Amino acid sequence: MLRTQVGIVGAGPAGLVLSQLLALDGIDSVVLENKTRQYCEERIRAGVLEWGTVELLAQSGVGERMRREGLVHYGIELRFAGRAHRIDFKDLTGRSITVYGQHEVIKDLIQARVAADGRIVFEANDVRVEDLNTNKPKIQYFHAGESHEIHCDFVAGCDGFHGICRPSIPSAALKLYERLYPFGWLGILAEAPPSSEELIYAYHERGFALHSMRSPQITRLYLQCDPEEDLAAWPDERIWRELHLRLAGGRDWKLNEGAILQKGVTGMRSFVVEPMQYGRMYLAGDAAHIVPPTGAKGLNLAVADVRVLARALKDFYSSGRTDSLEAYSQTCLSRVWKVQRFSWWMTSMLHRHEGNPFDHRRQLAELDYVASSRAASQSLAENYVGLPMD
Ligand SMILES: Cc1cc2nc3c(=O)[nH]c(=O)nc-3n(C[C@H](O)[C@H](O)[C@H](O)COP(=O)(O)OP(=O)(O)OC[C@H]3O[C@@H](n4cnc5c(N)ncnc54)[C@H](O)[C@@H]3O)c2cc1C
Repeated sequence: MLRTQVGIVGAGPAGLVLSQLLALDGIDSVVLENKTRQYCEERIRAGVLEWGTVELLAQSGVGERMRREGLVHYGIELRFAGRAHRIDFKDLTGRSITVYGQHEVIKDLIQARVAADGRIVFEANDVRVEDLNTNKPKIQYFHAGESHEIHCDFVAGCDGFHGICRPSIPSAALKLYERLYPFGWLGILAEAPPSSEELIYAYHERGFALHSMRSPQITRLYLQCDPEEDLAAWPDERIWRELHLRLAGGRDWKLNEGAILQKGVTGMRSFVVEPMQYGRMYLAGDAAHIVPPTGAKGLNLAVADVRVLARALKDFYSSGRTDSLEAYSQTCLSRVWKVQRFSWWMTSMLHRHEGNPFDHRRQLAELDYVASSRAASQSLAENYVGLPMD
């Protein structure tokens, strides 16, 4: 039997950042992850870090490589109706975002935890959380064929949307809010230098497209598609043809092509569970909420949750105070719903909705408004660089 103060399920951004923050406050934790270390370190997902996320990672001692290799951006471009408009973050908010792959963040965090003798159990199978309504919750799991049990003071459910923590809560104790979108993203990773220094969000009659990047050598590109799109219908030539059409820009614009290293289709949903707590288990990150990726918020929201949780646990262990823990769900949800609103708004404005021509004209008017009003540009910019963490 193992003993720790906080048992963390999941070694994604939420679980690892939490473990790192707790360690800085002298609070012991064990992270249980059902995949291998290599799998976690190579899983390509998000890549846009808000200002506050960058600050938090740097202050937590895991920002050195991010500061060196991350690409600092002071704006994004909107393309629509043959126009290009730059949202200037520096002018509108004084802040920036940093493009640094989620898997790189994960590598830095794992390395930091391992170097500090932090306990992460990879390939922990059949993880179960028990006795959540008592002061002594337990986590049971199998590792290398043997059964194990961890006794803890608190459990952090950081195991993503498909994890076991949320489903371990009686359904009557939770309220779910969900919106599914009738489209998804076909994403590629291409061995080609980015064609622009900044992200380009394109609204086109054929559907949305996004030009993003992971490094000076690797471009990340997305196309709006059907959520059930068959990848077999998308040979590389068709993907490039479609990207050229949807991202078409001014005379100087040229989309760089290269070998496609990875292809995938991601569905889109907005999802929130309330409350984000049950007994002594606290849900954080995708385990509690999902946003469509258009606002680049999933990872950032996970980090914002665990920042609140780490502070509440620090209050508890340093002075026995429980008020911050009791307020955890409410504190997080106030940010979660604002981020849901922004992600939904960006998604609705930039994706082609089938059927009603009214929507098309309304969306063009909305984009024109954002491009022509400083107040509207500023609203987009302050949400994109990240709302204040406090
Ligand atoms: C394909 C894809 C692409 C994405 N692209 C973007 C993007 O471009 N921009 C953006 O902002 N966001 C994106 N996201 C969302 C973003 O990556 C997530 O919001 C972020 O990873 C949330 O972090 P998390 O730690 O809460 O959850 P996760 O990163 O999902 O981490 C959960 C961890 O728990 C582990 N786990 C799950 N079940 C168990 C179990 N039973 N036992 C033990 N461990 C378990 C998982 O293996 C995983 O390591 C994307 C997500 C996906 C799936």
